[in-house]
Amino acid sequence: MFEYGIVGSGVGGSSIATLLNAKGYKVALFEKEPYLGGCSSTFSHKGYSYNTGATTLAGYEDGFIVKEVFDEIGFKPELITTDPAIVIMQNEKVTPRYSDFEKFFQVLNTNYPYSQNRKFWELIYEINSEFYKMSGHYYSNANIFAKVKSLLSFIPLFLKFQKYLRINAYDFIDNFFDGIDDEYLQFLESQILIVAQAPTKEINFFTAALSLGYTFNENHYAIGGLGAIFNGLTKDIEHVYKNSEIKEIKRLPTYFELHTKNNIYEAKKIILNSTVYDSAKLFEDRDIKSYYKKYEKLNNYQSSFMLYLTIKSKKKFEHHYQIIKEELFPHSLSKAVFVSFSDENDNTIVAKGHYSLTISLHTDLRIWQNKETYKAQKKVLQDILVQTVLTSLDIEESEIVHSFCATPLTFKNYINRTQLGGNAITMKNFLPFLPSNDSPLNSVYHVGDSVYAAQGWPGVMLGVKNLKGLLDV
Ligand SMILES: Cc1cc2nc3c(=O)[nH]c(=O)nc-3n(C[C@H](O)[C@H](O)[C@H](O)COP(=O)(O)OP(=O)(O)OC[C@H]3O[C@@H](n4cnc5c(N)ncnc54)[C@H](O)[C@@H]3O)c2cc1C
Repeated sequence: MFEYGIVGSGVGGSSIATLLNAKGYKVALFEKEPYLGGCSSTFSHKGYSYNTGATTLAGYEDGFIVKEVFDEIGFKPELITTDPAIVIMQNEKVTPRYSDFEKFFQVLNTNYPYSQNRKFWELIYEINSEFYKMSGHYYSNANIFAKVKSLLSFIPLFLKFQKYLRINAYDFIDNFFDGIDDEYLQFLESQILIVAQAPTKEINFFTAALSLGYTFNENHYAIGGLGAIFNGLTKDIEHVYKNSEIKEIKRLPTYFELHTKNNIYEAKKIILNSTVYDSAKLFEDRDIKSYYKKYEKLNNYQSSFMLYLTIKSKKKFEHHYQIIKEELFPHSLSKAVFVSFSDENDNTIVAKGHYSLTISLHTDLRIWQNKETYKAQKKVLQDILVQTVLTSLDIEESEIVHSFCATPLTFKNYINRTQLGGNAITMKNFLPFLPSNDSPLNSVYHVGDSVYAAQGWPGVMLGVKNLKGLLDV
């Protein structure tokens, strides 16, 4: 009998499994796929390797959450610092997001000259650094007392940032600049979308400020792809079951049965790393099923369209670009595409002289559900993305050695989820409406980007730390 059965090996599942294992608990980590990491994994397709979705690692520096958790485990990933964290390309303007304020600001202010710029970006810088100095908050949904206690733990944060929490980001920015032009707004909006997963009209300014500010922190590239981190991280866990999808979980009086196609495992407690939108189907138990069903309304169907390219090129590239166009890409929710390159010296992910590219664009699952138009839509979007990347980054078509694309349905087939980017923290969907890492259900816990705290490595890791506290380990 395992103490903990952990369903899914994403950032959340793998990290909590490793933490519990390091504390001496008997854990089993189940992963549907042959590789670990979910949205942050690295996979192989016809001999070429790619990062599945995520490509950047923020939060690995002293005083930040990813490093704090990894240090506690005693794990040191192989990383390269990425600076600029992203290069933003819009029309003819190229703006590297350097971590150094002045270095970034000089280029920004030349590209987008606004008299309020310095005050605005200093505010972003300040909110970002003040936020990461705060600690002590926790979040529980176990019962009404725990919930009230959780909300009280956020009071220092509410007090400190209240004027930015109550106003939507769009209004704040527009007022700040006495009316902002479309180009500059799109520049900000595109960067905010990739972190907050929602447009400025739906989120408060505090969330927007953190989304714009994270590039002032250290950002990292993982050697061998982000997936390589998971192999190192979980190496001391004895029971990692890959290719093992949990099809059903049965609650018995004192433990759970976790059913794969061929086996049944027993665990006293379960931690789900499947999204809250996809978890109800794992259970027959009515209480558990209805608990997860209630959160299905949070599903915003936001997802990703991916283009994967391997190119052979002698040119030098930064690790990450965001290319912003004037029009929405067809069958998408965005005017901006995020392009990540493998490091030129990283020959563990790709052969020497080549680059592995992971290219992502926001889309909506519902755009991809018509079987009759699916193939044609995929082709149209793939062609446009290839052209956009080639032209913007000066790559020849002849340099492409391998390419293919993925839709939200591809994600469903592989990592069991279509909603990507997690639970966007919008004005409507702020604490206390967020699902937590615990629940009123005895011995049922949750980690990942659809529950507290948010998406991305730092967001999911805050949830891992919160869960560790709730489990009192
Ligand atoms: C295109 C894209 C780009 C992104 N870029 C970045 C970035 O650059 N930096 C960043 O920090 N974040 C980025 N993110 C967000 C980040 O990838 C996610 O927030 C994070 O990886 C989610 O981790 P998770 O713990 O929720 O697990 P998930 O990634 O959701 O993984 C869950 C795992 O559980 C497995 N699973 C599900 N159900 C079962 C089952 N029944 N049985 C067994 N296994 C199961 C799945 O196969 C999967 O491996 C990006 C996301 C996307 C989609």
